[in-house]
Amino acid sequence: MQQDLDFDVVVVGAGLPGLALCAALRRTQLSIALVEGRMPEWPVGGWDARVYAVSPSSARFLEGIGGWAHLDHSRMQPLARIEVFGDRGARLDFSAFDVGVGELAWIAESGLIARELWEGVKRQANVALFCPARPVALGRVDERSTLELEDGRRLGAALVVGADGVNSWVRGQAGLDARFTDYGELGVVANFRCEKPHLGCAWQWFRPDGVLAFLPLPDQHMSMVWSAPEATARDLLQHDATTLAQHVAAAGDHVLGALEVVTPAAGFPLRLMEVPKVIAPGIVLVGDAAHAIHPLSGHGVNLGFADVRVLADVLATQDRGVLGDVRVLRRYERRRAEEVRAMQLTTHALHELFRPQWPALSWLRNSGLNLTQRMPVVRNALVRYALG
Ligand SMILES: Cc1cc2nc3c(=O)[nH]c(=O)nc-3n(C[C@H](O)[C@H](O)[C@H](O)COP(=O)(O)OP(=O)(O)OC[C@H]3O[C@@H](n4cnc5c(N)ncnc54)[C@H](O)[C@@H]3O)c2cc1C
Repeated sequence: MQQDLDFDVVVVGAGLPGLALCAALRRTQLSIALVEGRMPEWPVGGWDARVYAVSPSSARFLEGIGGWAHLDHSRMQPLARIEVFGDRGARLDFSAFDVGVGELAWIAESGLIARELWEGVKRQANVALFCPARPVALGRVDERSTLELEDGRRLGAALVVGADGVNSWVRGQAGLDARFTDYGELGVVANFRCEKPHLGCAWQWFRPDGVLAFLPLPDQHMSMVWSAPEATARDLLQHDATTLAQHVAAAGDHVLGALEVVTPAAGFPLRLMEVPKVIAPGIVLVGDAAHAIHPLSGHGVNLGFADVRVLADVLATQDRGVLGDVRVLRRYERRRAEEVRAMQLTTHALHELFRPQWPALSWLRNSGLNLTQRMPVVRNALVRYALG
């Protein structure tokens, strides 16, 4: 018979938001259990296939929780400028200089940030790590949530946080609905060495065969995200390295000259996921468990960091006995609902507007880009909004 282990908070999932939540609660009196199903693996040498545009507000948040200052900045690229192209010659650009900031974002590998957070959380006095470990049952008795692990251990807590990604087990167990809209696309990612310097510029093309983005990485490298219809994406994934490099260089108008693959292509299905309620008694969802958006805005992980910042803020000011009370959790839900909804609506609307199947909208979308380009006030307001 296994004994129950008691905590204030159990976090399921050690992706970036789950780790960041533990780190954000490091100066509180709360005892935390972090349950992760897989032993973490960091790419050795080479470049991580998953690369993020970390917004300045996420960078400030990470700095405040000790997950930024010691990152290897030689592997991170400040983003100075973004150029966006429509499908009929329209063009829009944004620059850090125009809005008076040092950078629009930092382009950084997922593994780089995850490793820094993981190493910090591992040493954190108020966190107990359960890894690898998977939960098999979730219950609620006398205002306490209980989580039973595969190996029979039982964890009790006032609050269970579902930070377990888009197919969240916690969300399913708590009976919280998720509405999926399948884009019928895969996000194909790969990293390349480039012939020409990128000068800190990112490019995005709304093409008939999807949305192609080049994100700059240090040492004349770049990370590609091509959100492409499934058939096109499958073709891209089947190309050998030379053909892929030539195909991507041509699709990007050779802005970076010849390309050489340094991280092979990988594909991820793209879906919009809306979760009308992200809380239940003793349960709260953060990160991709609470929302998923199309990667064209490059904002997924930034939404997750913002969730965690708000949740940590709410939890840090409460008595430990009431952490799972829906009246407390509603403060988190209310504070996050507007931004999440706005980001989902905007990325979904942009995606629909640029669907090649709707050529009648071609004039509208290209005129929209050109018009915004000619209105610096609107353009800079958009950038300031994106900078948070
Ligand atoms: C192609 C693509 C490109 C993207 N590009 C960007 C970008 O440029 N910028 C950006 O901000 N975002 C981007 N995103 C989104 C970003 O990847 C996600 O928002 C982010 O990874 C979400 O983190 P998460 O921890 O919520 O989920 P995940 O990263 O999925 O992590 C969930 C964690 O929970 C663990 N877990 C799952 N189930 C269980 C269980 N039952 N028990 C225990 N542990 C469990 C998993 O092992 C994992 O460690 C992109 C996404 C895609 C698909």
